[in-house]
Amino acid sequence: MNPDLIRPEIAALPTYNAGLALDRFRAHYGIDCQAKLDSNENPAGPCPGVVEAIREEATGISRYPDAGNADLRGDLADATGASPDRIIVGNGSEDLIGALFRTVLRPGDHVVTICPSFGLHEFGALACGAHVTKVPFEADWSFPIDGLIHAMSKEAPRVLIFSSPSNPAGPAISPSDFDAVLKATPPETLVVFDEAYLEYLDADARFDAMGRLAAGPNPWIVLRTFSKAYGLAGIRVGYGIACAPELVAQMMKARNPFGVNALAVAAARAALRDPDYLAQSVQSAIEGRAALTAGLTQTGFACAPSQTNFVFFDTGQTATDFAEALRHKGVLIKPWLEEPYTSWARVTVGTARENQYFLDAVASMHCPA
Ligand SMILES: *Cc1c(COP(=O)(O)O)cnc(C)c1O
Repeated sequence: MNPDLIRPEIAALPTYNAGLALDRFRAHYGIDCQAKLDSNENPAGPCPGVVEAIREEATGISRYPDAGNADLRGDLADATGASPDRIIVGNGSEDLIGALFRTVLRPGDHVVTICPSFGLHEFGALACGAHVTKVPFEADWSFPIDGLIHAMSKEAPRVLIFSSPSNPAGPAISPSDFDAVLKATPPETLVVFDEAYLEYLDADARFDAMGRLAAGPNPWIVLRTFSKAYGLAGIRVGYGIACAPELVAQMMKARNPFGVNALAVAAARAALRDPDYLAQSVQSAIEGRAALTAGLTQTGFACAPSQTNFVFFDTGQTATDFAEALRHKGVLIKPWLEEPYTSWARVTVGTARENQYFLDAVASMHCPA
């Protein structure tokens, strides 16, 4: 094939560092995975109503879904207080990140994010021909406010994008740091605040991010997902709440019209109807996170503080080697590939059994000084 066929922005991208599906794991390692802790999934799965709703919806799948996703947007409007015309639904929130970048980025544009970062925040921007400045966290894992301010003052970004609570690091931004960043953001910059782990935030770390965004001059969108706390990663549904209907209307043109399938809509609507189940899953993730953090710390590994369903820790060696050794013991975690965090890995909170299996495997393998 003629290499000129491929756009250079795409040719230069690495393959996405995706988690390994269970059947692929078995095919490759010849053993069953005992603890799948690489993709921040909810080990309890979705609430029972979800499976029921999918079963019912399955009888109607010869029809195209509603391209406007009116029912789900209506439910999300009820749940969030935003009007439906400011809400956009995607085939996972990663779909919305792509649509957003396609809507606003021109080749040569500047995008600012933090590091370590969610890979798609960077790759989606690079695919559009933007250049990306990644600002590392502070050594104490507070958000790098001065670094972000500096990066934005050198060249006004088209987009500022980061997650809080952060994937993969775990900490959440404080309201005063959030205000400081917004204050230093050029008024024309689109602020993308990825809240994929919102549900796991401690009560005292919660604040009204949308209210603060709305009080400032910037265009903005917050992104959320059903993949994590709601346990729906496999069916792919996420949503955004934007500053104005105009941004949603433009993004809808950059998105696949039928990208959100009928089963996903039914599943998300059912998930929203069971807040008790959500609260219970979150509570059990928080307990599991404490157990993982305590176990890792006792074994001598440094952990970043987490407000999520995972823990980011320093393996004390090349993280890919560490993760590979764990795979041979039937444990899947996600080694980080981004400098300067290549000795760090992210472990998702699993069931109590999976968490203990992981801790035992780690203890049997290696003890850092
Ligand atoms: C998991 C995740 C998402 C994407 O989730 P979808 O499954 O595409 O909805 C988005 N942002 C962050 C930071 C994530 O960790």
